[in-house]
Formats: sequence, C-alpha cells, structure tokens
Amino acid sequence: MTGLRDLSDRSLSEVLARLRQESREPADPGRVLHDLQVHQIELELQNRELRDAQQALEESRDRYADLYDFAPVGYATLTRRGQVTEMNLTATRLLGLERGRLPILYLGTQLAPGASGSLLAALARVLDTGEQESLEVGLGRGPGRPEARDLRLLIEREQPHPGVTEPPACRVALIDITEIKQAQATVLAERQFLQAVVDGAADPLLVVSPDYRIMLMNTAARAAADRRGGTNTQPLTCHLAMHGREAPCAGFEYPCPVREVLASGRVAKVVHRHREENAEEHAVELLASPLWGPQGEIIGVIESARDITEHRRLTEQLLERELQLEHLAEHDPLTGLPNRLLFADRLTQAMRRAHRERHQVGLLFLDLDQFKVINDSLGHAAGDRVLQQAAARMRALVREGDTVARLGGDEFTVILGALERGDAAARVAHALVEAFEEPFELDDQRLYVTASIGISLYPQDGTDVDTLVRNADSAMYLAKDQGHDTFRFYTQDMTERALAQVSLETALRQALANQEFVLHYQPQHALSTGRVVGLEALIRWHHPTFGLVAPQRFIPLAESTGLIVPISAWVLRTAAAQMQDWQAQGLLAGAAMAVNLSSRDLSNPHLAEDIGAIVSEIGLAPGILAVEVTETWVMANPEAAAENIRRLAELGIAVAIDDFGTGYSSLATLKRLPVWGLKIDRSFVAGLPGGADDRAIAAAIITLGQALNLEVIAEGVETQAQADWLMAAGCRIGQGHRYSRALPADACAAYCRQAAATVSGG
Ligand code: C2E
Ligand code: MG
Ligand code: MG
Repeated sequence: MTGLRDLSDRSLSEVLARLRQESREPADPGRVLHDLQVHQIELELQNRELRDAQQALEESRDRYADLYDFAPVGYATLTRRGQVTEMNLTATRLLGLERGRLPILYLGTQLAPGASGSLLAALARVLDTGEQESLEVGLGRGPGRPEARDLRLLIEREQPHPGVTEPPACRVALIDITEIKQAQATVLAERQFLQAVVDGAADPLLVVSPDYRIMLMNTAARAAADRRGGTNTQPLTCHLAMHGREAPCAGFEYPCPVREVLASGRVAKVVHRHREENAEEHAVELLASPLWGPQGEIIGVIESARDITEHRRLTEQLLERELQLEHLAEHDPLTGLPNRLLFADRLTQAMRRAHRERHQVGLLFLDLDQFKVINDSLGHAAGDRVLQQAAARMRALVREGDTVARLGGDEFTVILGALERGDAAARVAHALVEAFEEPFELDDQRLYVTASIGISLYPQDGTDVDTLVRNADSAMYLAKDQGHDTFRFYTQDMTERALAQVSLETALRQALANQEFVLHYQPQHALSTGRVVGLEALIRWHHPTFGLVAPQRFIPLAESTGLIVPISAWVLRTAAAQMQDWQAQGLLAGAAMAVNLSSRDLSNPHLAEDIGAIVSEIGLAPGILAVEVTETWVMANPEAAAENIRRLAELGIAVAIDDFGTGYSSLATLKRLPVWGLKIDRSFVAGLPGGADDRAIAAAIITLGQALNLEVIAEGVETQAQADWLMAAGCRIGQGHRYSRALPADACAAYCRQAAATVSGG
C-alpha cells in the first residue's frame, strides 16, 4: 500500500467509504488492522483541514493588517494617559515617525502646545462615559514633520475582550484636516475681506432678497438702520430697517427701488426724503441693481444709498452763482438795471411779440438835463447816487413787464411793450418828466435834475434796434432843444397829438376845482302818454380855451387817469341835489334821476356805501336815484359788478344796463343780476323802423326784457315813426331828440313843467 500522504483527498475519501462499508460486514481476522487504517485516514483528513484553516487564517490576517495599515485614516490605540499602544502605518506617517522603532510614545507630546491637555480630558471622558468624541487639534512641527498640520481625532472606547482584565483603552481615528482647515481659512479670509470692503464703503450698502429680507448690510447701512427703523426685528426687511414700516415702500414719497429692479431687471434710481432726528430733511438717492443667480434669475437686489442733500445744495449754490454772473453780464452794476446788451435783447423780443399781436412798441430815450454839472461840481459819488435814484423812480413808474435799462452815463431807455396806441407812450413819458420834477435828496442837499425824453415807435419809426434807438435819441435832442424837461416824439404829428392830449389831461385835472363841469338833463318819456318818467344826467365840460369838450373825448381820459372817481362823485351829488330841489318844488313826482357810472366806479368795492351816503346826506327819498352801467363793463367783470349791483338794489337804487346790444351779454349772467332795465343802444334805434337787422335786434331786446321782467328804455328816439314802432313792439320808455336834447337844469325844469301841463291838459 502506498503511503496515505501520497493519496489525494478524493482517493482517501473513497478508501474510507469502502472501509466503512466493509466494517459493517461480519468480523474477519484482519478487522483490527482495518479499523486502524480507517482511523489513520480520518486523522490524515483532519490534519489536512487544520492546515488549510490555518493557512486561510494567516492569509486573512495579512489582508486585514494591510487594510488597517494602509487605511486613509490613521488609527491608534491609546491608554487613559495617552500612551500609544498600537498604531497603523497611516498614523505613523501622519506623526512623521518610523514604524520599526516605535518608542514609548504619548500622543500628547506630538501635538501643538496646549492640545495635550484637551486630549487627556477627552480620553478620560470617553473612557468614563463610553460616548464618542471628536476633537480638533493642531499637530505642531517636529522631527520628520516639516509642516504643522491639523488633525481631527475621533475617540471611542475599545470594546473589552472577553476574559481580558487589562484597563480599557481608546481607539482613536486621526484624520488629517489640514487642507480642509486651509480651505476654510481661505474662505473665511475672503469673506472677511469682502465684508471689510463693503464696510469700508462710506455709503450704506444692502443686499435684499426678492422678499425684501436683508441678506447683507454694511456698517453704514446698519448705522442708518439704527437711526431710522432698527435692526432688532426678525426677519429683518429693508422697509422695517430703513423706515420702520411693516410693508414695502410705495408711493410718491418713498418709491421702492427693489420692486422696480425685480420688475424690470434693470438698474433703478429713486430719491427718498428722510427727516432725521435733528429735523433736517435729507435727500437720499437709492441706486439698486439686480444680483443675478447662476440660472440667470434675480436672487437679490444690491442697493446703495447716498445722501445727496449737500450735493444738491452745492448744485443750487453753483446755479445761483451762475445766475449772478449772468446777471452781472447783463446788468448795470450801479443801478441794477439791464445794460445795453440785455436791453437790445428785450427790445428785439418786444418787437417780435408786437408784430405777432399787431401792437406797437414805444421806446423812450431819457437823458438827464445838465447831469455833467452835478458830476463836475459835487463829484462822481453824488452823480452815482442821482443815477441810482433816477433809476428807482423810472422803475416805479412803468409796468411790471416793461423794461427800464441804462445804456451808460446818464442815458436810460424804457421799452413799453404791447401798446394799443402810440399815444400811451406819451403818458408814460409825461409821468416820467413829472417824476423828475421832484427834488433828489443827497444827504442834506436837495437837487433838481430834470429829464428830456425822446420817443420812437415800432413799427412806424423803425423795425430794428439800432434805428429805433437812433430815432428816439434824435427825438430826445429835439426835446432838449425845445427847452429841456419835456418829451418829443420822433414824428412831428405824434408830438402834436400827444402834447394836445397832455394839455387836455392837465386841464382835466383842474376842471373840477375850476368848476368847469355842468350837468345837462335829458328827459325820458312814457311812449304811450308822453309823460316824463325820468331824467338822465349827462356831463358837459366847458373849458375856457378848448370850449365845450364832449364826454366821449374826456371820459376815457378821466378813466385812464383815475380822475373819473372824483368826477363821478361830483355828478352823483349834483344830480341828486338837483332832483331833490325839483322834487321840493313839486316837479317830476314819481320820476327817477339816472346817472352814468364808469367801469372804475363798478370795481370800487364801496360803491353802494358811497352812493348811499350821498343820497342820505342830500335827503333824497330812496327809489328816486338810478344808475346806468354799460353792458361791456358788467360783462368784463361780472363777479364784482354783480356784487355792486346787488348792494345798490338793496339800497333801492335801480340799475339799468346802458348801450345794451353793443356788448356780449351772457344771458346767464344777466338773469342773475337784479337789474331794473335795459337801454336799447342808440345805434339800433337809428335804423328803425326800416332797417330789418335793427328791427330784429330791437325786437329781441324788448322780448328779452319782457321775459326777464325788465323795463326797456329806447335811447336816441328821433322820430315819431321810431316811437310808434317801439311802442307797438312793447317798449314803454324812450328818450331822444324826438322829445328833447339833454338840457341845462333851468331849461329842463321848464321843459318838464311844460310837458306835465301838456300831458294833463291833453
Ligand atoms: P349814454 O349814457 O348812452 O348817453 C346817451 C348819449 O346819447 C348822450 O350823449 C346823449 O346826448 C345822446 N343822445 C340822446 N338822445 C339822442 C338822439 O336822439 N340822437 C343822438 N344823436 N344822440 C342822442 P352824450 O351826452 O354825448 O354822452 C355820451 C356818453 O358819455 C354817454 O352815453 C355816457 O356813456 C357818457 N357820459 C355822459 N355823461 C356821463 C357821466 O356823467 N358819467 C359817465 N361816467 N359817463 C357819462
Ligand atoms: Mg347813459
Ligand atoms: Mg347809451
């Protein structure tokens, strides 16, 4: 038999199976040997199993040792005192040690100063509690470790081996976190750098999320928030922080730039006004721009704020300075008046406007008489003061829109824009000449300095600046030649007309005092009976040299000079006294005395009181005085007129609308006025009864009067045919040459007596 060892496992098993089969058979002499053989084989098989198991064990131990040694994490086993009892290759390398010669090693000695204590404390805790711990420690430099590193230690208690009585140890995983720490430090440094940059910006800076939450703010923004809204609320929104408001900003005062950026995706700029604690208002400009996310979506809004109060103030100052410079360039520094440059510009503009609006422009060229004497005898300082006072006088006399300029020396110009008539320039010139007749006050001296004025008119005397100035200048020399202290037009006939007007005005001023006015009275008749039912007082001016001046000639002059006010008062008083006298004589019972008023009277807010005072002073019974106001004046200023008419009606003074049909009445206005009657204008009566148009107008006025329950009086009735037509049309009262002209008081009284006798007789 070959040796058992040489047989394969299979052959051995087959032999063993056969031998066992045989052993069940009856015993034979070779039985003992047989059993021995079986036992031997069984042993051999057991041996082989053991050897295989050992071999597998050895192989697996080697494999685990490799896994342990070459794990990416260091492993060590430590005692409570930190002594390393076992350590893998990775840990050895981490600590910069050589594996072969592992001395007695305490891990704490390898760590950066201070870390050893933490390690020992952690080991003790882990061993006592059994809880795992994680500890970050620095690994200082040492032999074999040229660089310091950072470690995370994961410490846990070792499971006690059954039957082992040694004190328990800790298993520690050593993870190199140097790179992570460095990356963290880099990120932190970057973040700190960015924050420092943001904080370093002087203006408040915010990053706001699309739901208005503040994601980032710099120091300036925080300070602003602390002043306004506060930073204590959570979540902190920009409206809460900056305005203390619950909802996002809105409206005109606080437009929201965030909303705008979110809606448009573009940069938005708005201005907010803030009142800080010192109550000073600050203008704050907010600039907002979108913060884009990786997918191209808006993830926030970057908002910066800038206090532009100071900037605005400086801009305003700059602007003001610019204006001052501009003013200096265009004005005379001594008088503050426009200089030659600005004058030329203004004159050009005035001419353009006049051309468009078909008006005239008056150019006055004023030169002081004998100004050189003042300069030579009193010195330039005195001369300057005279010029300043002259400038002030001129400015005070012209209208707001007119220009007074100083061309140089003692030469001034005045531009009178939008003149309807050239004569109006004469009035200003005359007023200026008069203004210079007042003495100039220089300290304790009184100086008399007159002025000579030349006038040219656009367009007749020139259509450009140079020509107009030249012609006004030569007219001024004419004024000087003809005795100073006066004015002359460039053309002879204008001068004559103007002088006539001026002398008329001068005469008118004296007419009242000189008792040159008289009243004539024109009777008004009931068309049906011929009875005198009223009188109209009409003024007449007898001038010693001009003779009889018609009211149309002097009433407008009296109006424009304001002389109408005392004249009206005189007319009222005279007419009322006359009527009182006649009534006392038993004349004109039941008749009324009508007096004409002017537009000036109508705009006098005390008109009713003034008239009331006159009536009661004279003792005239109410209802006897009536007034006539023209349609044009009433409609020009319906509010003031209405108020006066109402108050007059309350005093029992009847108001008739004169020259009705020549103006543009608003029926709505008319309806609201408590007037007594309408006077059909003479021009319409003149065409009656033949003129179809006049007939239509007269009939319309009569119908209107009836509809509004107003008396209708026809003016200028010259023929019986007119009277008949008017009567047939429904008009009840007429006045005119058919009955009588306006008569002096005595003649009028005689006429009325006669008429009364005729009526009662007939
Ligand atoms: P008026 O108030 O419309 O006066 C009527 C004018 O017609 C008067 O002219 C009168 O003399 C004239 N007249 C009357 N009947 C006839 C006629 O049959 N034929 C013609 N051709 N004329 C006639 P007078 O007196 O020249 O007054 C003119 C205007 O002057 C008045 O128009 C009135 O507006 C104003 N006026 C007259 N006196 C005064 C007054 O004392 N104060 C005010 N403010 N204005 C007055
Ligand atoms: Mg009248
Ligand atoms: Mg009239």
